Amino acid sequence: MPKIPVKVVKWEDVAQWSTDLAEKIRDKYSPDVIIAVARGGLVPSRLVADVLGITDVLSIKVEHWVVTASHTPEAKIKYPFKVDLSGKRVIIIDDITDTGDSLILAEKYVRENFNPLDIKTATMQHIKPSSKYVPDFYAFEVTDWAWFMYPWNYWEDEINLVRKILAEKGKMELSQLEKEFRESYGIEPPIPLSKILDEMRRRKII
Ligand code: AMP
Repeated sequence: MPKIPVKVVKWEDVAQWSTDLAEKIRDKYSPDVIIAVARGGLVPSRLVADVLGITDVLSIKVEHWVVTASHTPEAKIKYPFKVDLSGKRVIIIDDITDTGDSLILAEKYVRENFNPLDIKTATMQHIKPSSKYVPDFYAFEVTDWAWFMYPWNYWEDEINLVRKILAEKGKMELSQLEKEFRESYGIEPPIPLSKILDEMRRRKII
């Protein structure tokens, strides 16, 4: 068993799941405004907006899982702001509900500060066993927890996952790192680890 089960998500998966999500929303709700939870909800929100023909897409930034597969105790709104959405039907969109804390916080924040007529929530994926919150709409349910490596996050995730190996096992050759990566996470890295190490050097992480 890998130490952290990781699943690589492709752009085609994101396009499919966002379209599925939009179609589920369209059957039951007519939002005027989409609020994307940044950063994970940005791409799904834009794709759902396209399917539903929604031009008002706003964003709030929630921080919870700053480092891949490790979260801070509390979700927080970074850069809070107020906007008047009275009379508007809102949908808040994120990529995934894992603990559910981000969406709980986003929903509360929007209700208390944006004054919308109605609020619903939506994610592409909902991890049923770990989440204390069930979004109103989701493309599909996940039953076995995994870290989903979304295509907008390949570099960040791989850097963080390599960091975890190096912190635990110390410096090693590239071939050994590739082996450890495969064994620890059960995937082939979508970005070659040689490039990841170059980027880590450029960012002065190593
Ligand atoms: P949460 O507050 O636990 O529901 O998750 C907050 C955010 O962290 C999500 O919107 C994702 O962007 C990211 N995240 C949490 N868990 C995962 C996971 N298992 N796979 C990929 N991203 C995740």
